[in-house]
Order: sequence, then structure tokens, then C-alpha cells
Amino acid sequence: MAYQSVNPATGKVLKTFNNHSDDEIERALNLAHSLYKSPWCKGDRGPRLEVLNRFSKLAHERLEELARILTLEMGKRINEARTEVRITADIAQYYAENAESLLAREKVATSKGDAWLEYHPIGVVVAVEPWNFPFYQLIRVAGPNLAIGNPVLAKHASMVPQAAVAFEELLTEAGVPEGAWKNIFATGDQVSKLIADDRVQGVALTGSEGAGSIVAANAGKNLKKSVMELGGSDVFVVLDDADVDKAVAAGVEARLRGCGQVCNGAKRFLIHEKIADEFVNKLAEKFTSTKIGDPMDETVGLGPMSSIGARDDIAGQVERAVKAGARVLVGGSVVEGPGAYYQPTILTHVTRDNPAYFEEFFGPVAQVHVIKSDDDVVRIANDSNFGLSGAIFTADVDRAKSLASQVETGSVWINTSSFTGPELPFGGVKKSGYGRELAGAGIKELVNQKMVLVA
Ligand code: NAP
Repeated sequence: MAYQSVNPATGKVLKTFNNHSDDEIERALNLAHSLYKSPWCKGDRGPRLEVLNRFSKLAHERLEELARILTLEMGKRINEARTEVRITADIAQYYAENAESLLAREKVATSKGDAWLEYHPIGVVVAVEPWNFPFYQLIRVAGPNLAIGNPVLAKHASMVPQAAVAFEELLTEAGVPEGAWKNIFATGDQVSKLIADDRVQGVALTGSEGAGSIVAANAGKNLKKSVMELGGSDVFVVLDDADVDKAVAAGVEARLRGCGQVCNGAKRFLIHEKIADEFVNKLAEKFTSTKIGDPMDETVGLGPMSSIGARDDIAGQVERAVKAGARVLVGGSVVEGPGAYYQPTILTHVTRDNPAYFEEFFGPVAQVHVIKSDDDVVRIANDSNFGLSGAIFTADVDRAKSLASQVETGSVWINTSSFTGPELPFGGVKKSGYGRELAGAGIKELVNQKMVLVA
């Protein structure tokens, strides 16, 4: 696929980039591997952390310019784009400030002598990343790997090459040496060859189950450690004692953020029967009154999807769900005119024999399931191939904690919707992937946890 920026609000092609040749990729790998063998990667962390520190400052300084790239290239509303740039800067800052303590030697209790764990880089990492958070996804890899000393070859999604270029330029300006972070505009085959190369020692992918299973299989075949951050079909639970207005406001945000194209967005709404009518009517009212339009316009509540293809995919998915028995409460249609717009949509009556019940809806489409008990929450939440995260709204936090411990997901958020933070480990179970990014858990994935013992 060509690396090309297309503004999804207008359909206009903004810029096209050539794919890198095999020779260019080989040069990038050589440079990365040479850097890995050098003191910059193996020595004192100070210079590497200073790069992250400067990167964070530069990202804040360039906030507006960087946010506009996201909005123009993949249609994110400008305010959300600004938030993404801020979070990206925060993650860089977090690792700049905390990597030393996160990677400090840890004493191992043993009777065999004085033993400890120390943390070392493993070598070049290949990162395959999606378009939905073009900067945030990259810093989730760049932050920990630069801190530990793993050079990265980054294959970004082909629809966000300008974000890839801007990110690399910012790191270069922050002082990263050649070889530490390099975009590769590569095909799937070129990525496979890289993973098989002995100079590559780690693989990180964020994306769909399809891409994840191909890349993970490749990594496994070549005995490379991998981290997979894949899709989700998160539940958003509202119990009978919840503050309904608060839950509605959070639910609208959690389903429409990023035009619904967020891995840990709320996708399956499990609403207690006692408050179901009130919640659903209010959600429907908010969905139908959301202003749809130009993502550069700060008054707009829903921008376009990332591409016409993505819009057509969600339209097809809704159509198939309805043919299999689901009902459309509001929305359910493409917005006529230019741009990749789709109406905020609520589906009800999605029964277990409807394929939609098990699918990830990567767009502004909410499924509502009415529940009668806490047992229903656990049963329906876990009746999914995904296990990324989930949210529970209730006045009874102990009740929510008990449910949280029974739900099969990588995280649970109580009385707030799923989001992210540099210090909060991120990742899933089941087909949402394995391993963690961010926080201390993230920095210890692609490292050599070396045990040293003095008898
Ligand atoms: P995607 O189609 O899987 O693409 C993700 C990346 O994988 C892109 O760079 C893509 O390249 C690449 N890719 C696809 N097939 C490949 C192959 N055979 N070999 C090597 N690379 C390959 O996913 P997407 O549509 O961009 O993103 C949406 C998915 O990501 C959703 O399922 C969402 O839930 C998930 N996601 C998960 C998280 C998380 O943290 N768990 C975060 C964000 C998104 P091209 O662009 O060139 O095709």
C-alpha cells in the first residue's frame, strides 16, 4: 500500500511518499544495530533520558503545528489532537524522569549469595503501529525503548506518513543519534524479513487481530520477544445505583472519541434494566444532537472517520448486524456529501447469534444490552474474544471492585471511562493481545532482565 496522506474530511490527497527500498531498510537496520553496540545504547542512561526530556519540551512548544497534522491526516477533532500531543509529551517526560528508578537494580532474595536483577537493552526493536493515535502510539514505544537503549525501526500505518515524519524530526531535533529511531515505509513482506534478521531482537505491534496474528507468528517462529496491543470490544457498565447523567456524559465521550476508532473505547453498553430507558433515551438524545463536521472546527462533536474505506466498513457492519436481527435506535447511515462521515449510531437487540455480538465496531456505533443482575455483567463482559478494558459506573465502589476482579480484561475503570496515562500499564488479554505498554510494566517488556549472583 502507498504511504499517502488523504484528508478524510475532504478526500483531498495531501502528500504521497515512496516506499523504502530493501537497500534503504538494510542501511537503517545496520545503523540501528551499530548504535546498539555503541556506548550510547549500552552506557549511562543520562544522554538518552535527556533526549526524551527535550522531546517533551519541543512537543509542548509545537503543540498546535503537531495537532494540525493529526487532524488533517486522519480526521481527529482538533481538541482531541491537542490532547494527544500533550499526552505524547507527558509520556516522554515520564520516562525521562522515572526510567532510572524503574530500571534500578532489584535485590533477589536467595541463600546462594548476593544476587540482583539489572536491566539491559536487547537490541533493535521493530515497531508496527496504527493510525488512530499517530503520535501517542509511537511514544509508547519510543519512550521506554530509548530509555532502555533499544534502537527502533518504526513502521507506521501507511495513512499517517506525515505524522511519522514529524515524530522522527522532533526526536532528531531533541538530539537522538542516527539509528536510534528510524521510520521505515515498509511493506508487510519487508517487516517479515526484518523480524527474521538476527540483528532484530524485539517486536511491538499495535493494530488489528489480523495484523497481530501475522506479525506475532513471525516473531514466534524467529524466537523474538513480542508485545501485541490489539483490538477491543470494551464494556461500559451502568448499574442501577449509578449517577445516570454522569454515566451518559462519560458514555458519549467514550464512544464518540476519535470517531469511535479507539481500541479501548466503550463498545458494548451493559445497562441495568432499572435505569435502561432513562440512560438509553439520554444517550440517544446526545448522539442525535452531536454536531458532525470539519474536525478543525472547535464546536464540532464528531469528525470524519479515518478514510472512506473505514466509513464503508462500519456501514457494512451495521447493515449486516441489522440483517441478523439488530435494531437501529438512532443513526445507522453514512452522512451524504464529501468526507468520511458516519452518524453516531445505537444498536439494540444484538443477540448472541448475531455475528455483531462478537465483533469490534471501530466507529461511532454503540451496542446496548439490558442487564438484570451483576451476574449478567460478568457473563456478557467475558463472553467476548477480546479483553482490553472496561468501565463500571455505580454508587457502590465495593460492588464495582468485586465485578472488576471477575472481568477478563487488562484494566477496569470505576466511575470513569477507559483512558490512558504514562504511569498506567496498558494492554489486554485474549485476542486483545499480550504484554503491556507504558509505566514500569511497559519498560520491562523488551529488556534483558539479567540476574547476577556473587557467591
Ligand atoms: P491494522 O490494519 O492492523 O494496522 C496496524 C499496523 O499494522 C499498520 O501499520 C499496518 O500497515 C500494519 N500491518 C497490517 N498488516 C500487516 C502485515 N501483514 N505485516 C506487517 N504489518 C502489517 O490496524 P488499524 O486498522 O491501523 O488499527 C485499528 C486496530 O488497532 C483496531 O483493532 C484497534 O482496536 C487496534 N488498536 C489497539 C490498541 C491497543 O493499544 N490495544 C491501540 C490502538 C489501536 P498499513 O497501514 O501499511 O496497512
